Amino acid sequence: MYLFKQKDELRHYLNTAKQQGATIGFVPTMGALHEGHLSLIRTAKAQTSLTVCSIFVNPTQFNDPADFEKYPITIEKDIQMLIAAGTDVLFLPAVAEMYPEGLSAPAPHYDFGALETVLEGAHRPGHFQGVGRIVHKLLDIVQPHKLFMGQKDLQQCLVVTRLLPLIDSPAEMVICPTLREPDGLAMSSRNMRLGPDERKNAVALYQALSYIKTGLAKGGSLPDILAAARLQLQSSKFEMDYLDVIAVKDDGIILSPEQAVTDLPMYAVVAARMKGSPVRLIDNMQM
Ligand code: AMP
Repeated sequence: MYLFKQKDELRHYLNTAKQQGATIGFVPTMGALHEGHLSLIRTAKAQTSLTVCSIFVNPTQFNDPADFEKYPITIEKDIQMLIAAGTDVLFLPAVAEMYPEGLSAPAPHYDFGALETVLEGAHRPGHFQGVGRIVHKLLDIVQPHKLFMGQKDLQQCLVVTRLLPLIDSPAEMVICPTLREPDGLAMSSRNMRLGPDERKNAVALYQALSYIKTGLAKGGSLPDILAAARLQLQSSKFEMDYLDVIAVKDDGIILSPEQAVTDLPMYAVVAARMKGSPVRLIDNMQM
């Protein structure tokens, strides 16, 4: 695996590879890697000839400074995992390499429409603008044929899908399934910050999503199912930012849709933290 820290050197290497016929698959991450990230690498390897992973904890997408400071960093282990998975290139830039203009310089504004004002957008102001800013910069450098992202961050996938035409990127978006721990908890770098009891309790998120899926499949009423699932989570000591069902359409999201619109893909989505815990967890499940 080649490791680049300078964007110009990476650009030069990838240009040469492309001239020789390589197709580039790109997996952007913030490190603290787990099997979920590696599943993206494996999918990229299966679909393209040269897999680039980036590790960059992007300061501009953290609305909560404490979350940024506490974000886990396990770079030596990450490198070993990427090598074992057969990654071709790791891009590991410093903050100044990605933001030579400085973090407080005026930033571009991306029009993500109503996608940015609901769910994660409503609870993490500025988050998706920060995601747009870093993905734009990374895509300018890597110019991949395909971009691999996880359904775990569903709204991020929708935002980036919308970003691609805004920045004239020809990259094809590939959304990969969520990998879960044996008990059902979605793998996440933030799980490392849970204490042993919190980790056991965290499965309640998956159980709430599964409960909604089963209830809807049986033809239950969405408001009743949601109310019961919210109670379930509260009794498992969770405080929710949201627990809802959404329908996804080309230009946005419908919250708590009437069951009449089930021709659109529907997902149960949740963001919550356990009482007293600073760790905010998100998950979703297709209905
Ligand atoms: P992150 O490092 O958390 O920014 O995630 C990097 C990429 O990995 C994003 O596209 C995530 O959606 C994806 N990802 C995170 N967790 C999982 C998971 N459990 N399964 C599949 N993909 C994931």
